[in-house]
Amino acid sequence: MTIPASSAREPVHVVVVGGGPGGYEAALVAGSLGARVTVVERQGLGGAAVLTDVVPSKTLIATAEWMTIAERAPELGIRLTDDAAKRDLSVDLQAVNKRVLELAEAQSADIRGRLVREGIEVVNGTGRLDGPTRVVVDPADGGEARVLEADTVLLAVGATPRVLPTAVPDGERILNWTQMYNLDELPEKLIVVGSGVTGAEFAGAYNALGADVVLVSSRDRVLPGEDEDAAELLEGVFRSRGMTVLSRTRAEAAERTDDGVAVTLSDGRVVHGSHVLIAVGGVPNTADLGLEEAGVVLSGSGHIEVDKVSRTSVRGVYAAGDCTGVLPLASVAAMQGRIAMQHALGDAVAPLRLGTVASNIFTAPEIATVGYSEEALKKQGSRFITTTLPLARNPRAKMLGVRDGFVKLFAHPEAGVVLGGVVVSPRAGEHIFPITLAVQHRLTVDDVAASFTVYPSLSGTTAEAARVLDARVQER
Ligand SMILES: Cc1cc2nc3c(=O)[nH]c(=O)nc-3n(C[C@H](O)[C@H](O)[C@H](O)COP(=O)(O)OP(=O)(O)OC[C@H]3O[C@@H](n4cnc5c(N)ncnc54)[C@H](O)[C@@H]3O)c2cc1C
Repeated sequence: MTIPASSAREPVHVVVVGGGPGGYEAALVAGSLGARVTVVERQGLGGAAVLTDVVPSKTLIATAEWMTIAERAPELGIRLTDDAAKRDLSVDLQAVNKRVLELAEAQSADIRGRLVREGIEVVNGTGRLDGPTRVVVDPADGGEARVLEADTVLLAVGATPRVLPTAVPDGERILNWTQMYNLDELPEKLIVVGSGVTGAEFAGAYNALGADVVLVSSRDRVLPGEDEDAAELLEGVFRSRGMTVLSRTRAEAAERTDDGVAVTLSDGRVVHGSHVLIAVGGVPNTADLGLEEAGVVLSGSGHIEVDKVSRTSVRGVYAAGDCTGVLPLASVAAMQGRIAMQHALGDAVAPLRLGTVASNIFTAPEIATVGYSEEALKKQGSRFITTTLPLARNPRAKMLGVRDGFVKLFAHPEAGVVLGGVVVSPRAGEHIFPITLAVQHRLTVDDVAASFTVYPSLSGTTAEAARVLDARVQER
C-alpha cells in the first residue's frame, strides 16, 4: 500500500520514525503547524524514555528516595513502635516493579491518546528509509509492508544498551537496565558495571533499597565528565552508605555461576554477586535504516550527523535525539525534534543552544547542573569567578537533617553574568531552575542576589552564592 506525499492542495506530509521524546514532541509541533503527520513506532509511544529508561528508573528511584528519607527519621525524632521495631524497613521489589511498569505503560498510552486526538496517525511497525522521501514500514503484526511518501522525514530512533561480547545479558542474572524491572526479589548482591549516570543512579537506588552493591568504575572516580566536587561528594556518600566502589578497573567479563554471577576485572580480581547490571552506555539504532543508501552521513560511532537545526546531510531528512549523539537527554531530544519541525515547516526557529541545558543525576543527593561546567570554562580559556557554598550551613537543610550538598555558581568576573551552576542536594533537579532562568536570560549575580528567597529554604544558599560573587564583581 502506498500513501502519497502532499500534492499542491494537500498539507505537507511529515513522517516521523521513532515515537520517543525526539519523535512525539516533533509530531505534535508538526501537527500544530498544519502538516499531515505519521509516526512510525515499533515498541510503544514515549519510546525508550517512557518504557525502559527515564520513567521506569525515576519511578524506582522515587521508592529509593523514601528509603533514604526514612534513614534520617530517627535523627528527626521519629521512633519505630516496639512492634515495628521487630521488622526491618524492607522493599517488596515485585510491588515496586509492578508499579514502575504500570506507570510507564499508562504514560505511553497517554502519549498515544494525545497524538491520536491531535489527528496524528500512528503506525505500529519498523520503519526504514527507501531514499530521502520514502519510508517503508514493516508492520508489527507482520502484515504487508506499507510505503509512506514523505515531504519531510524525521529520524528519532534512539539508542539501545551497549552489549559487551563477554558479558551478554541473559535477562536473569546478567542484566541491562531495561531488564531490571523483571526482578521479583531484591538482588542480594548487585554488581554494577559502569559508573556513568545510569550506573550511578542504579547503584545508589539499589543500595538505598537494601541490596549490597559493588560499583565497578574504570575511572579514578564515579561520574566521569561531571562536576568533580559533586562526583567526589557522591562517591563519599556511596561509600559511607556501605557501597563498595572499585575504581580504575574494568569489567572484562561476566559469567553465570551456580548461584549467581562472577565478574572478572581487568586487574585480575573476580567479584562474585547474585546479579550484575551492565551499564556501559548506548549505541544508536541506526543500523538497517537505509541511511547510507539515502546519503545520510553517519559519524564513526554510528550516530546521525546533524546541524543546530537538526538537518542531516540530506535535504528534507532531519534527525533528533539519542540517534544523533548530541546530548543523550530526553529534554534535548524533544528540543531537537521541535526545532527540526519548525525549520522544515518554515516556522520561526532558534538553533539548539547546548549552553543552557539543565540536567540532573537522580542519586541521593541529586546532582543538577546547568550552563557551562567548570571543566568547559577552563578548557575554552574563559575568565570566570566561582564560589561553592555547602548546604550544611543552610538553616532549612539543618531542619531537614540534610548534610551533604552544595551550591556552586560560575559568573563572568566583570559583567557578573551567570554562566552556569551546580546544585547538589535532595531534589536538586527542582532547585536548579532559578539558575537555569539566570543562564537562559543572561541574568547577573546581582539580579539573582536581589531576588527574594523564602526563609528558610534551600534556595537561600543559591542567593547567598550569588551575593558572594556579586561582592567580587563590585570589588573590581
Ligand atoms: C536508564 C536511563 C535513564 C535516563 N534518565 C533520564 C532522565 O532522567 N532525564 C533525561 O532527560 N534523560 C534520561 N535518559 C536519556 C533519555 O532516555 C534519552 O535521551 C531519550 O530517551 C532520547 O529520546 P529519543 O526520542 O531520542 O529516543 P528513545 O526514547 O529511545 O525513542 C526512540 C524510539 O524509536 C523507536 N525506533 C527505533 N528504531 C525504529 C524503527 N526503525 N522504526 C520504528 N521505531 C523505531 C524505538 O522503539 C523507540 O521507541 C536516561 C537514559 C537511560 C538509559
